[in-house]
Amino acid sequence: MRYAEVAVSAPVGHSRTFSYSVPTDYPVEPGQLVWVPFGRRVAQGIVAELASSPQVEVTKDILQPVEPSPLVNAVFLELGRWISNYYLCPLFDALALCLPPGFEDQVRSRVNAVLQDEADNAAVLDELRPETKEALSALANTTGLAEADFLKSLGKNSARELRRLIDKKLVQRHVSLPRPRMTPRYQRYLFATNTATASEEDVEGHPALSERQAGLFAAIKESNGSYSYSIANKAFGTGVGQALVEKGLLGMEWRREEADSASSAEWSRAAPLSLTATQSDALHRITEALDEPAVTPRSFVLHGVTGSGKTEVYLQAIQHAVGLGMQAIYLVPEISLTPQTLDRLNARFPGRVAIIHSRLAGRQKFDQWWKIQSGGYDVVVGARSALFSPVERLGLVILDEEHEWTYKQLEAPPLYHARTVALELSRLSGAVVVMGSATPDVESYYFARDANPRRHRLLELPHRIEAKPGIRNQSMAQVEIVDMRRELKEGNRSIFSRRLSQSLKECIARGQQAILFLNRRGSAPIVQCRDCGYVATCARCAVPLAYHSADGRLRCHHCNRRRRPLANCQECRSGSIRQLGIGTQRVVDEVSGLLPGVKVQRWDSDAAGSGVEPGAAMRQFASGETQVLVGTQVVAKGLDVANVTVVGMILADVGLHLPDFRAGERSFGLLCQVAGRAGRGKEPGRAFIQTYVPEHYAITAAAQQDYAAMYDQEIASRRQLGNPPFNRLVHLVFQDSDETACQRQAINTAREIRRKAYAQGLSAIEIIGPAPGFPPRLRGRHRWHLTIRGPNLQRFLDDFRVPTGCTVDVDPVHVL
Ligand code: ADP
Ligand code: ZN
Ligand code: ZN
Repeated sequence: MRYAEVAVSAPVGHSRTFSYSVPTDYPVEPGQLVWVPFGRRVAQGIVAELASSPQVEVTKDILQPVEPSPLVNAVFLELGRWISNYYLCPLFDALALCLPPGFEDQVRSRVNAVLQDEADNAAVLDELRPETKEALSALANTTGLAEADFLKSLGKNSARELRRLIDKKLVQRHVSLPRPRMTPRYQRYLFATNTATASEEDVEGHPALSERQAGLFAAIKESNGSYSYSIANKAFGTGVGQALVEKGLLGMEWRREEADSASSAEWSRAAPLSLTATQSDALHRITEALDEPAVTPRSFVLHGVTGSGKTEVYLQAIQHAVGLGMQAIYLVPEISLTPQTLDRLNARFPGRVAIIHSRLAGRQKFDQWWKIQSGGYDVVVGARSALFSPVERLGLVILDEEHEWTYKQLEAPPLYHARTVALELSRLSGAVVVMGSATPDVESYYFARDANPRRHRLLELPHRIEAKPGIRNQSMAQVEIVDMRRELKEGNRSIFSRRLSQSLKECIARGQQAILFLNRRGSAPIVQCRDCGYVATCARCAVPLAYHSADGRLRCHHCNRRRRPLANCQECRSGSIRQLGIGTQRVVDEVSGLLPGVKVQRWDSDAAGSGVEPGAAMRQFASGETQVLVGTQVVAKGLDVANVTVVGMILADVGLHLPDFRAGERSFGLLCQVAGRAGRGKEPGRAFIQTYVPEHYAITAAAQQDYAAMYDQEIASRRQLGNPPFNRLVHLVFQDSDETACQRQAINTAREIRRKAYAQGLSAIEIIGPAPGFPPRLRGRHRWHLTIRGPNLQRFLDDFRVPTGCTVDVDPVHVL
């Protein structure tokens, strides 16, 4: 094999590789990270495969490997190809998901001068510029320099000069990835010496002891052992500890610390719980698949209400996999919201859990990757990117809260969904996938229960685990729907209904806590009638129309249909038809008015301006310091405060009327989650859903916590409109600072796709739009979008050339 197909780090068509010849002086393997010449620059690439013949006649040599051994194993090479084809992104971008985090910045490139016989080289040296010659002789006096430093000394056109020096074999370049710092970290500790502990008077009578020294000395004696030197410096002043050491009152020692342990606290070991019958059934299905590679399907949807014992099933499934010598990846929507889960994992697998935390510094993440690669852990926990951890013996992937859209990457390509990729990884590697949720994604549930053939096996845990009496009550919160139209009719103009204000007052009087929830994410400027709840919608797309202040019109953000705003409600002729929207601050103000003297706090995911660090807001609420918490989406998740007995959803309608076909499903999940925050302790909880559309299926189903009712409605409407899971969607977003250019490009692309579908006789393929995006402008750039809907879109789009400035989102979670 003299040639290699390399995925190059450059904006190229998806799945495209380039042919390079393999130099004779070192071996090249698939999965290796290498440097290659690309156009006029040098680029990083990943060797996708070796080949006996190239795609082109003339090939260049691979310059050198960044790493001597492959960084991407065979399964992940396959997976990367699949991602690149499926999500229409460059192969390098897909494979880069598997590389050590931050590898771009970690690459070290050094150069050194090659010692030559001066006489032989006189001619070559003579051709060099004087500055270059000078830099070269300076380099020869060192054992080597960082490439960046040497470039600086070369002056103008330094990159070209360096290339010349390398070509003429006057300079050698070495690149490498640094190895993790294996040297353990040591910490200094202070302890009281024997002489010092002999008698109290010695110290108090010590004339030379300052107040701070005496304070530290007392603290160390009280701590009954040792005291961290750096903490002593912080608490008592730098040098105070050192002074006591010099006086002979304290001793100092160095102790080894585990550099990567999540906390230095001792793990409290915990044994597995003995399972209930339903848990045990579910676990058994999963372990069967783990034991027997031929068992299909290998993916499971674990549907169980909050507190039904899903996590316990995950933990025991992991234990089984580990017992078989396999490793597990445990994905959570957001690592910072799952402290209890992490504690349980650490207690079950002490010291064997890698936690991929976004707050780890770049270098720590990089080091952790290597430790995972060397087989240092049984379980890797993290958000979606943890799926690409280099575990060699992957047996099990858990996706907790599988319906959460944070599993979809939206920030940068590839715009992958961790669930979709996990299922493909399962197909390639045989690993078992468990997708758990109290409110599964409608598509996952469909593939587990109704599709033919079924793609996943459905496991149900219908009941809450019975707790010891007095610790937790067994019932879910009582949910009440409050009709805000009636409140208005009966003269209540406050944002709180009478039922909710009354309950809030009683809750606070009993010394309990309350959460007020405001759905704000992407709230659209929809127009709603406050008398009957009517919302203006597009007749063709059945999504709400958005109000545009620019032209004063209502517009459909899918098909671009426009119409004049209504002066009166179409249903009831009422004149109080207007835009929706309330901010968290307004809610805080109203609470203060209703309950004078009560401590209220905002916890807003997107309001950095609130002045409160999110963790602090959560801690103050959990400790009981604040009595009422007002928040957006974040409060719905992971907040487990036993003293909360009232939860109010100020206006459920906001999320319900987003111009997105998943709005109903999302609102349902969110409302269930929010309601679940009440009554987690021994007192029963109550939740209030305030709405102008009390008969909406998502609201009535949420009030009953009735997943099946929501699912039946939702799947019927998806079937009727041809939305997923019955078709696939591909969403294209065009952005440009020039509005006309943006619109023109969207229109041209739509025409091109229509023509192509027509030419292939694919009448099932539809193009929805183009239309202005929502929001229509983002960071000063205009947005237009269109959605392609149909079966088998992957094959149809295989040779699609993504226009520049256009983002392609396959299986979008938002179509705005
Ligand atoms: P979920 O993940 O569905 O919310 P958990 O696994 O966290 O449920 O279980 C909820 C509570 O019930 C936890 O406190 C857990 O320790 C407890 N629990 C789970 N399974 C059992 C069991 N088989 N026996 C006793 N307690 C259990
Ligand atoms: Zn009306
Ligand atoms: Zn429309």
